[in-house]
Amino acid sequence: MTYDLVIKNGNVIDPAQGIHAKKDIAVAGGKIAEIEDYVSDGDTHDVIEADDLLVTPGLVDLHVHVWWGVAHLAIEADPACVYRGVTTAIDAGSSGSNTVAGFHRYVMDSASTRVLAFLHISGMGQLDNDIGELEDIRWARVEKAVEAAKLHSDVIVGIKVRLTEGIVGKNDMVALDRALEAGKELNKPVMIHIGGSIHSFDEFLEKLRPGDIVTHSFTGNPHGILDNNNKVIDAAWDAMKRGIIFDVGHGAGSFAFPVAEACLEQGLDPGTVSSDVHRYNVRGPVFDLMTTLSKYIHLGYSIKDALAFGTTKPAAAVGLPDHIGTLKVGADADIAVIQHREGSVTFTDALGNERAGNQLLLPVETLRKGRRFNPIHSTHPNLVGHPHTH
Ligand SMILES: [Zn+2]
Repeated sequence: MTYDLVIKNGNVIDPAQGIHAKKDIAVAGGKIAEIEDYVSDGDTHDVIEADDLLVTPGLVDLHVHVWWGVAHLAIEADPACVYRGVTTAIDAGSSGSNTVAGFHRYVMDSASTRVLAFLHISGMGQLDNDIGELEDIRWARVEKAVEAAKLHSDVIVGIKVRLTEGIVGKNDMVALDRALEAGKELNKPVMIHIGGSIHSFDEFLEKLRPGDIVTHSFTGNPHGILDNNNKVIDAAWDAMKRGIIFDVGHGAGSFAFPVAEACLEQGLDPGTVSSDVHRYNVRGPVFDLMTTLSKYIHLGYSIKDALAFGTTKPAAAVGLPDHIGTLKVGADADIAVIQHREGSVTFTDALGNERAGNQLLLPVETLRKGRRFNPIHSTHPNLVGHPHTH
């Protein structure tokens, strides 16, 4: 067969199909054509030798900010995503009804990364760092959000709302109600950003529907998932049973090792692991999704489970389980080739807490619809433990 490309001898892990074995993968026409113990590369245009490397579905990052030049915190999609293993990046509220047309045309239509989005219930999206997008609740217009989400239904996967006091003032409950109203009308999930709100987390959780998503679930900020005795609050257990998804959304201020560790000890797993990569954390402590997944391997999850948190699970959360985050034959050839590097590494959470790790996932090459992308930035020296010497 004349395939476009064959990836040879990789250690293939596809949580969606329960595969963890040495396999060859053939790509043709931008799709996965074959995944077998042996695929002949005799007549193939291009070969990637993946001995000693992991070959996984292209990662799905459920929380990024890539409306570059418009949302204050946004970065360019491709350098942080497709060049670093993430083939599907889901922007979490950088755009709202006032700006989504531009986001669609100038970012989603032109990036090599597949960019989807949670549309912010605030029409302005996340425009400014000092003036919160819902301090004036008039920005939260359900009809406008629903209309925009329908007009851009090929890329909008849900509705986003941020409930922190500095962003919504005292409007957190009404903001949440409006986001849920839009979500219900669209029959799509709502992603809520928690931590530092006026109302308690319990009061938000009560209102969420199965499939709604909490991001920044392991924040160290007040009104989080733990009570004052470091116990997971009852409302969180109830929510989990009802099918609410606890997403990581690491970010610059929203992931605390002690909180994640306490949850893990008490048996509360994350539903999905996302980076919330943006301009205030892309040079650390987040760097990218692969580093965030590596933190979960450090916390004790297997590589396969960690990869599921960044492939199948976010794919299911946005209703695309058969299309993204899998190496199924016929799916887009979105593939991450990853080095599993053993050796000392310092992981830092959003509060500056450090953990000494001994393994790290590093992007080697990513395929998006069969096209090859190599990392264009090397691993940051702060991460791999070789700080600059003077
Ligand atoms: Zn965010």
